[in-house]
Amino acid sequence: MPPALTSLTEDERLLRQSVREFAAQELAPRARAMDEAARLDPALLPRLFGMGLMGVEVPERHGGGGGTFFHSVLVVEELSRVDPAVGVLVDVQNTLVVNALLRWGNDEQQRAWLPRLAADAVGAYALSEAGSGSDAFALTTRATADADGYVIDGRKLWITNAAEASLFIVFATLDPAAGYRGITAFLVPRDTPGLAVGKKEDKLGIRASSTCELVFERCRVPASAVLGEVGKGYKVAIETLNEGRIGIGAQMVGLAQGALDHAIAYTKQRKQFGKAIADFQGVQFQLARAAMEVESARLLVYNAARLRDAKQPFLTEAAMGKLLASEVAERTASLAINLFGGYGFVKDAPVEKLYRDAKIGQIYEGTSNLQLQTIAKALLA
Ligand SMILES: Cc1cc2nc3c(=O)[nH]c(=O)nc-3n(C[C@H](O)[C@H](O)[C@H](O)COP(=O)(O)OP(=O)(O)OC[C@H]3O[C@@H](n4cnc5c(N)ncnc54)[C@H](O)[C@@H]3O)c2cc1C
Repeated sequence: MPPALTSLTEDERLLRQSVREFAAQELAPRARAMDEAARLDPALLPRLFGMGLMGVEVPERHGGGGGTFFHSVLVVEELSRVDPAVGVLVDVQNTLVVNALLRWGNDEQQRAWLPRLAADAVGAYALSEAGSGSDAFALTTRATADADGYVIDGRKLWITNAAEASLFIVFATLDPAAGYRGITAFLVPRDTPGLAVGKKEDKLGIRASSTCELVFERCRVPASAVLGEVGKGYKVAIETLNEGRIGIGAQMVGLAQGALDHAIAYTKQRKQFGKAIADFQGVQFQLARAAMEVESARLLVYNAARLRDAKQPFLTEAAMGKLLASEVAERTASLAINLFGGYGFVKDAPVEKLYRDAKIGQIYEGTSNLQLQTIAKALLA
C-alpha cells in the first residue's frame, strides 16, 4: 500500500521538528522587528546556512543536505508558519536557484556554485520585468554575443533576495525576433561589473524579504555563464517555476497553519460572557472549517511535491496546490484577526502581519488567474 500523503519518513519527521524548533527560537522573536524595519536581521542568515536550510537538496559531496524536494517543502512550510518572509528567502534559494543548478548546471557550474549556495551564498532568480510579468517571455533584457562571451543590458523588477544575493540567475534574450526561443539563462555573480542592485520595494507584506530592481548596463559575462543551452532559457524558466510554485504552496500552507495556531491559542484563553470564546460553538465551527481548509491545501501541496520527487507529472497538482493554499492562507489569516477581535487589528498580535503576508501568494510565481489557466488547459486538453 502506498503511504498516506501526510505520513512522513523518520528523517522527514526529524527535519520538520528541528526546523519547527529553529523557527520558534530564531524567527518568532525577530519577526515583528524585521517586518517593521523591512529588513532581514543579518544575524539570521548564518544561522539559516548553519542549519543546512539553504542547501537542502544540494548533494552531500557539495556540502549540502542531500535531501529531496519534499524536504525543501517541509522546511519552507515550517519557517512560514512563523515568518513567511523568511520562508520565501529559503524557498527561492532551494526550489528555484539550487533546483535550476541541479537540473541545468554543468559539472563546472555545479562545482563552482553548489558548495557556496549550501554554505554562505544567497541566490536570486531574475525573470520578471516592468513590462513582462504573467507574460514572462515578453522580456526585453538583451544579451549580445561577442568573441568573449555575452553583454547583458536591461532591467529586472521584483527580484526576491536581491539585497542579499551573491548569485543571480538572469533570463535575457539573444534575439527578440525569435520570441521565447531567443531566451537564455545566465549565471551572474553579484560583483560582475555592469550589474547594479537598484531600488528596494516598500511592500504590504513579507517585508523582511528583499524585493529589488536589477540594472544591467554593458554587463559582461563569459560564455561559461550560460545555464543550460543557448536559446533554451524558456525551458529553464518554465520547468523551474513549475516546481517552485509547489514551494509557494508550502509557504502559504505554513502561513495558514501559523494563523490557525494563533487563533486556537487565543480563543482558548480569551474570556467573554464568563467563558473562553473557544467554548462558543460559533467559534468552534469557524476553527473547524479553517482546519479542514488548511489540511486540504496541505494535501494538495504534499501530493504535488511527492509526485515531483517520484518523477511523475505534477503540473496541474502544483497549480491547484498553490492556488488553494494562497486562498486558504488569506482566509485563515483573516479569520484569525476576526477571532482576536480588536487585538487582531494591531501589531502586538502576530496575525495582522500574517494577513498582510498572505496576499503575495496569489501574485508571485504565477498569479491565481495563471494557475486557473494551467488547470483549465489540462482539463480541456
Ligand atoms: C514581492 C514580489 C516578489 C517577486 N519575486 C520575483 C522573483 O524573485 N523573480 C521574478 O522573476 N519575479 C518575481 N516577482 C514577480 C511576479 O512573479 C510577478 O509580479 C507576477 O508574475 C505577476 O506579474 P505582473 O506583476 O506583471 O502582473 P500582470 O502580469 O500584469 O498581471 C496583472 C493582472 O492581470 C492578470 N492577467 C494577466 N494575464 C492574464 C491572462 N492571460 N488571463 C487572465 N488574467 C491575466 C493577472 O492574473 C493579474 O491579476 C515578484 C513579485 C513580487 C510582488
